[in-house]
Amino acid sequence: MSDSSGPQPSSDAENVQDESAATWYEDGLQFKCTQCGNCCTGAPGVVWVDEEEIRAIAEYLNKPIGEIRLMHTRPVRGRVSLTEFANGDCTFFDPRGRGCTIYPARPKQCRTWPFWNSNLTTEQAWDSIKGDCPGAGHGDFVSLDDIEIRRSVIDM
Ligand code: SF4
Ligand code: SF4
Repeated sequence: MSDSSGPQPSSDAENVQDESAATWYEDGLQFKCTQCGNCCTGAPGVVWVDEEEIRAIAEYLNKPIGEIRLMHTRPVRGRVSLTEFANGDCTFFDPRGRGCTIYPARPKQCRTWPFWNSNLTTEQAWDSIKGDCPGAGHGDFVSLDDIEIRRSVIDM
């Protein structure tokens, strides 16, 4: 999680403004994963992982943590990301079953999609992800409280 994601000190005036400001998604949003696999495949990207998450993956797969580091992670801009195959698929994605092979131990970045800060800045930002993620805007109701919990887990 980025250092910039934590709560920042603010003045009383700012607090009053924040409390009165309406959030565009205050009535909640809809989301249900269709298991299409789009977010685990395709264009190159990063899936940030920390030591705790790498350890959790190793334990889930019952493999040495060194093997997970070597086979499934890579350094990116001073941080650690999961690795992709040449076609852009995450190395934990099963192309035949179209699913995540570490689903119960998947990283925070995967758990919280699509409720990322970058997707929630405006309604337009949210709408723009619907083309790639058919689950966004459909299915289960997600309340404002649940959205805020998910978006606070990692700064994306
Ligand atoms: S793109 Fe959306 S619907 Fe498709 S697998 Fe990812 S979260 Fe699920
Ligand atoms: S860890 Fe699983 S959910 Fe996350 S990108 Fe890889 S296959 Fe997808």
